[in-house]
Formats: sequence, C-alpha cells, structure tokens
Amino acid sequence: MNAARKIFVGASLAGVAAIIYLWGHTDGMNGRELSGQARAQHSPVEPAADRDVYYPNTEALAEDEMRVIACGTGMPTTRAAQAAACFLVELGNGDKFIFDIGSGSAERLSSLQIPYNYLDKVFIGHLHADHFGSLGELFIGGALMGRQKPLRIWGPSGPVPELGTAYSVQKLREMYTWDLAGRVGLTDARGYFIEVNEFDYKAENAVVYEHNGVTVRSFPAIHSLDGPVSFSLEWNGLKFVFGSDTYPNKWFMQYAQDADIAIHECFVAVPDLVSKMRFTPEQALLVGTQIHTAPEAFGKVMSQIQPRIAVAYHFFKDFDTTAGVNDRIRTTYDGPLSLAEDFMVWNVTKDDITVRMAVVEEHTWAPPLSGPALPPGGDSDRMKFSENTGVPMEALLYSDFIGGGRWGEVDEVLRGVYQEASDVLGREFPYPEREE
Ligand SMILES: [Zn+2]
Ligand SMILES: [Zn+2]
Repeated sequence: MNAARKIFVGASLAGVAAIIYLWGHTDGMNGRELSGQARAQHSPVEPAADRDVYYPNTEALAEDEMRVIACGTGMPTTRAAQAAACFLVELGNGDKFIFDIGSGSAERLSSLQIPYNYLDKVFIGHLHADHFGSLGELFIGGALMGRQKPLRIWGPSGPVPELGTAYSVQKLREMYTWDLAGRVGLTDARGYFIEVNEFDYKAENAVVYEHNGVTVRSFPAIHSLDGPVSFSLEWNGLKFVFGSDTYPNKWFMQYAQDADIAIHECFVAVPDLVSKMRFTPEQALLVGTQIHTAPEAFGKVMSQIQPRIAVAYHFFKDFDTTAGVNDRIRTTYDGPLSLAEDFMVWNVTKDDITVRMAVVEEHTWAPPLSGPALPPGGDSDRMKFSENTGVPMEALLYSDFIGGGRWGEVDEVLRGVYQEASDVLGREFPYPEREE
C-alpha cells in the first residue's frame, strides 16, 4: 500500500471516492499514467476496477489464501474507535478462528456478517478483560444470531485452578444463570453451551488444536503473572502468529520464526501513558516497558523474527500518537509493518500480502443461518437446564404473583398478531392460553 492510500484509509468512504476521483483526473493513481481505460474506471458512472477497501462477503478466498481481520486493537480502557484485542483468521478451506475476544470486539465481529456457526472457535491468550471481555456477548448474542452449536474455547491453565481458563468460563456461565434461565424454553437452545479446552500454559509449542489441515500451537508468554500464552496457526504452508500480551520472550523468538504474519503487542509509548492515560512516570515505565512490550522492543523482536509482515497492536492509534509509535519502532526495525487499527484486513498468500481497511455495515442484523432454526424447546429444555444448574423447574416460569400482573387489555391486539402470522404463513399458530 503506498503512502497516498494509507492516508485515505480511515476517511469516510464517500470522501475517499471523491478524492480518488479528483486525483484520477489530475495526476493519476498510484503513480500510473492515466489511460482512457483508467479514466473510465474512475468515471462517476462506472464502477472502479480496483478496490482500495474490503467489503465483507464480496470476495471469495482462494484455496491457498488466508485473511486476517483486526476486530479489536485497543486497550482495557474502552473507546468507541477501538475495541480491545481480537483477530479473526479466515482460511481458504472455510475454517475460521478467533484469537482473543477483548471488550467491544463482538460488535466488530457482527459487522462482518459471518454466519455464527463459523465463529465457534475462540483461542484466548490470557484472561485480562481486554482479551476476553466480549466472550459473554459472543456466547449469548452469537447463539441468538444463529450459532446452532456450542461455543468452543481454548485457553491456558494457570498456576492454580482459580487462575485458569476453565474456572473463568465456568464463572462466566454461572454469572449468566439468570440470562440463560430467561431464554431457555423460549428459543433454539443449541448455541447456549460452552465447551472449554484448557491446556498447560507452560507447554512449549504444544499442539492445542489440529483438524482439517490446521494446527494451532501454544507457547508461554510473560505478562503480569503466570498463565498467558501466545499462539501460532499453521495451514497450507502459511503461518500466523499471535502474541496476545507479552514482554519479549525467548519462546516467541523461537516459535514465531518463519511467520508470514506476526502479530505482537506494541504498547502505548511511555510519554503518552503519562500525558494521556494519566499514569505516574513510575507506573508508565513499569507497565509500558516491563509488563508489556514497548514500541522500541517490538521493533527488536521483529528484526529478529523477520516475518513477511509485522503487525503492531495494543496502542491507541490517533493522529497525534501514531507517528511517535512508528518512529520508536523504526529505531529498531525497518521491515514490513502494519500499525493495526480495527477493521484492518490482511490477505496472505505465498506470493503476496495485501493490506486494506474493511468498510463494514454498522446497522447489522443476524447473518444468514447455517441450518434451519429449531422452534422454542419449551419444558423439555427447561428440564435439562434445571438438572444442569440446580435451578428448580418452577423458578423457570413466572410466579402466580408476577404472571397475574399482566395487563389483559393488550390480549386482543396480540391475538391479532398471531392471526396475522397464521394468515400470512398459511398455518395455524395457536395463541398461548393461560389458566386464570
Ligand atoms: Zn494483558
Ligand atoms: Zn492487553
């Protein structure tokens, strides 16, 4: 991507189109001479042949192609412009993998309009909220938007069981007891289950997933306390590496070798931690260089790894911080680099890596279903839920006190809605009759 395209990325699509159009008539695009054909491509009434952006669901992946989409690149401190850590990996064989599911990232995923049955595999590098804070939303919302099977989680153990992924997910499930109790019986319940695969955080380059030609490995990371890990995903001769959070460490230096795309944290620069995050200098130095990877250290790591493209994330990427982060990285690394922001997209093949920004729909509804939805499971689902959770059956329905408070005046109009459905769809939908 040349400098001009980089500048345009992030402007509104309409703005980009307008600027490209104007430039197309003055001094050409991307250094090319303007031919009559190029002129036609940038005419206001003809579609452009080249796309500078990625529109989800408009491009097939080649059989040997990997697409990585940043669905969160930010920090634990929330902001509208950047969700916290999340990267989606899509492979030409149809498989999709989510690496970290940080706060706010479930919204980004929903913007891609991918059927939720394919968003069922989540690999969590460590259990900071900015790396799994959206798990609950993907769990509940994903089921509601068409995941017809359990959500599957892979994550590390900890030095004690209470610091492991299985404990954390179990507590999350318990936290949602009321939520799940309030849905069971009323909906297709197949998505409201979580499968946890906890593995040893000390395992070095251990296979934690292997299926359909895809191998995911874990190796230890150094961050805050024992437990964090980094991942590699290998498929079809391509290698994706995701550091999650870590201080530069010997395992990454060894197992991230030969990466086609290496994503590693690159934390907010220390001066910005003081001026913008309001850290004390002591805290900024400690957190910004010892718990996380400072931009200068990120550059050192990448100089050694030499991936086909290095991806820096985990800083707030603003007009007044980006140049500083870039300058600091460039003191130690001069190879291919992306300073990630949400909705950056990398298409990776053996021959080529292209980097673009996605243009996504914000007003999304449920994407297409992978299979027919089942009607509400009723009492048989409630019975199973009761057995699994210990919540008594009678607590899964309104008490006489609450149920008796329904305002009957709406009964007639609601019967009309049922009648309308029956008329339109040509089959009977019996209105739920209640005992008085
Ligand atoms: Zn962390
Ligand atoms: Zn983090």
